[in-house]
Amino acid sequence: MTSRLNDIYRRLYVRFGPQKWWPAESPFEVMVGAILTQNTNWLNVERAINNIKKNKLLSPRRLYELKQRRLASLIKPAGYYNIKAKRLRNFLKFFIKDYQGSALKMSRRGLSLLRQQLLGVNGIGPETADSILLYALNKPVFVVDAYTKRILFRHGFIGEGAGYDQAQNLFMQNLEKRVKLYNEYHALIVRLGKEFCRKNNPRCRTCPLKK
Ligand code: SF4
Repeated sequence: MTSRLNDIYRRLYVRFGPQKWWPAESPFEVMVGAILTQNTNWLNVERAINNIKKNKLLSPRRLYELKQRRLASLIKPAGYYNIKAKRLRNFLKFFIKDYQGSALKMSRRGLSLLRQQLLGVNGIGPETADSILLYALNKPVFVVDAYTKRILFRHGFIGEGAGYDQAQNLFMQNLEKRVKLYNEYHALIVRLGKEFCRKNNPRCRTCPLKK
């Protein structure tokens, strides 16, 4: 299993090169992006974050002090903006109360405690929690998304209805626990899913994983 997973990584890296994730200027921006990216594409998230930046509001306290309606209107381009405004506020409340809005303070805590805390915030599921842990706080945890599950399923690693943990364990039990590797691997999977392993009409003939 380890050699198959390493082989996939090598093929993807050779084809696509480094993906330079996460596209953000600060750990806090990663956190906001990880919440806003639920069920939408990255371009819409960027628009929402640009609105926040234009208004000089990209700070935990300033965002938290906004009325929920105002926050929702700023993040409107990201879709589901009322729900996301609520989720973002839930996260900000936790982040300010437990860590005074400091990503550095948060990063000093251990991975399993942080994961448990994040999953305890209403509206934060495993993918969002792990994205924050890996890309904002540099914790060695593998992020699983729909692309990951689809590719693993199509290549016979997991069954069709496999859950998040099963897919995650596959990587974490068979690869070295390295932040850089997990960072790049997930980003490469997203690239593969977008360009080749699409839901309908996958482009297997020219895919880097064709064999
Ligand atoms: S596009 Fe085809 S070859 Fe490529 S990852 Fe998907 S199923 Fe595999």
